Amino acid sequence: TNFNDMGIKEDVLRGVYEYGFEKPSAIQQRAVMPILQGRDVIAQAQSGTGKTSMIALSVCQIVDTSSREVQALILSPTRELAKQTEKTIQAIGLHANIQAHACIGGQSVGEDIRKLEHGVHVVSGTPGRVCDMIKRRSLRTRAIKLLILDESDEMLSRGFKDQIYDVYRYLPPDLQVCLVSATLPHEILEMTSKFMTEPVKILV
Ligand code: AMP
Repeated sequence: TNFNDMGIKEDVLRGVYEYGFEKPSAIQQRAVMPILQGRDVIAQAQSGTGKTSMIALSVCQIVDTSSREVQALILSPTRELAKQTEKTIQAIGLHANIQAHACIGGQSVGEDIRKLEHGVHVVSGTPGRVCDMIKRRSLRTRAIKLLILDESDEMLSRGFKDQIYDVYRYLPPDLQVCLVSATLPHEILEMTSKFMTEPVKILV
């Protein structure tokens, strides 16, 4: 498979090629299509497999830029990963004019509020700050159609379980969910059965 054969919008495709990619990695080949088809996806993959770009590409493709509401939410275990994901989305989504913002602890709450008020399409964040922004009603959830849980096992081992469930409760009922994890222990499978419907499982 080639990026050209994946039905990706021209301006997003331009972002992908300018980012320096020629061919999709295994996880990109196998996870992007089911996500774009609206399926829930469990991707068992480590970092280094191209999972961040898989997430960015999928998100850029599903966002409708004629709206200024948040349509995709990505939760990550660390500030660094949330920031890296934000940057990858900004790069791949450059020509599509996709606005992404990282909501992470240790950054100014006022700046988050200002950015969210101005309107962004995608939020990439850590569970604590995202939960806070939702409860302050600065992060509006009603247009969110895709939730991505990145490095889910790592989020659980850092104690974010309650905050993830808390965030999930604020999201619309017809939500599409994609879960990425290096391992699939019992607690992760519990989450997949709570959050997901007939998920496609991918092992990279
Ligand atoms: P990740 O697993 O997303 O952290 O990606 C690991 C590294 O692989 C990063 O430096 C990416 O820029 C790079 N990468 C991801 N996808 C591709 C691709 N399709 N072609 C070449 N490099 C890639």
